[in-house]
Amino acid sequence: MKYDVIVIGGGIAGVTASIYLKRAMKKVLLIESKQIGGEILKADKVENYPALKEVKGYELGLNMSEQLKSLDIEVINELVTSIDGSDNNFIINNKYECKKVIIATGTSSNRLGLLNEDKFIGKGISFCATCDGNFFKGKDVAVIGGGNTALDSAIYLSNIVNKVYLIHRRDEFRGEESKVNIINNKDNIEVLFNTTVKELKGNDFIESIVLNNDQEINVSGVFVCIGHVPNSSIFNGSKDEGKYIITDSNYETSIEGIYAIGDVIVKEVRQLTTAASDGTIAATNILKKL
Ligand code: NAP
Repeated sequence: MKYDVIVIGGGIAGVTASIYLKRAMKKVLLIESKQIGGEILKADKVENYPALKEVKGYELGLNMSEQLKSLDIEVINELVTSIDGSDNNFIINNKYECKKVIIATGTSSNRLGLLNEDKFIGKGISFCATCDGNFFKGKDVAVIGGGNTALDSAIYLSNIVNKVYLIHRRDEFRGEESKVNIINNKDNIEVLFNTTVKELKGNDFIESIVLNNDQEINVSGVFVCIGHVPNSSIFNGSKDEGKYIITDSNYETSIEGIYAIGDVIVKEVRQLTTAASDGTIAATNILKKL
């Protein structure tokens, strides 16, 4: 069967586009390599989505899954590694044919680039405080980064663990002032400015980290919150220097018939609301062409 549109990525952007296309009676396939919901699954609370005063990230993900089911939108769990063909004749992973493609693959967490980092993933290193925080109940942990994700993670973990070392490479946070205020009033968060981690130590699990000033601190967990890289390697068209996909105002990329939306594209504001908006606009423009 040839689909009208294949959407790659089941975060809010891809799910929104799928909903609009399906409700317009188009044949849509949504391919997601992990779980429907995407990055928002990692969020503890979402408080900036209109009409949802406060909702857990995983609840939003579940709701998205249920909405896809109720609309009978076909979802396949698979990693996309190739997009071949041209407008109106694309082939994804050498087997799924479609007329138009929407890339909504989002971003992945940056790595510290330290020796042993890969070995300790899931054994002390985590990129998601809300997913893994409970494993560190009553223990000491480090959070690395100075953006909103690092601040949110430190606050969340401070309610579960014994002590949080919040380690930032500069002397000023990039994240919101309101979060900084909460952190400054937490007894069990110690902020280490102008500090980097140069070594991860431990046998099977992380036991300590060595800082740039050679101080060694004992921690059972290290939450790496130092930004993201776009998941754009499947796309061969125009990207910026950071590998984010360049689109026009209709969200069409430099390759005719391939659209890109959400966090994977060049844009100023990466939020749930803007991702949903991208999905709506891309789907609406595709509908005009199908
Ligand atoms: P981010 O804002 O890009 O912050 C990344 C942090 O990591 C920065 O403080 C950066 O330091 C630091 N960093 C980068 N590379 C590093 C390295 N190699 N070693 C040590 N530190 C390093 O990323 P984010 O916090 O993941 O947020 C991404 C976007 O999502 C932002 O727009 C953010 O506002 C948004 N977000 C919003 C909320 C919310 O509540 N509204 C929650 C989470 C995220 P420098 O500051 O020195 O560059």
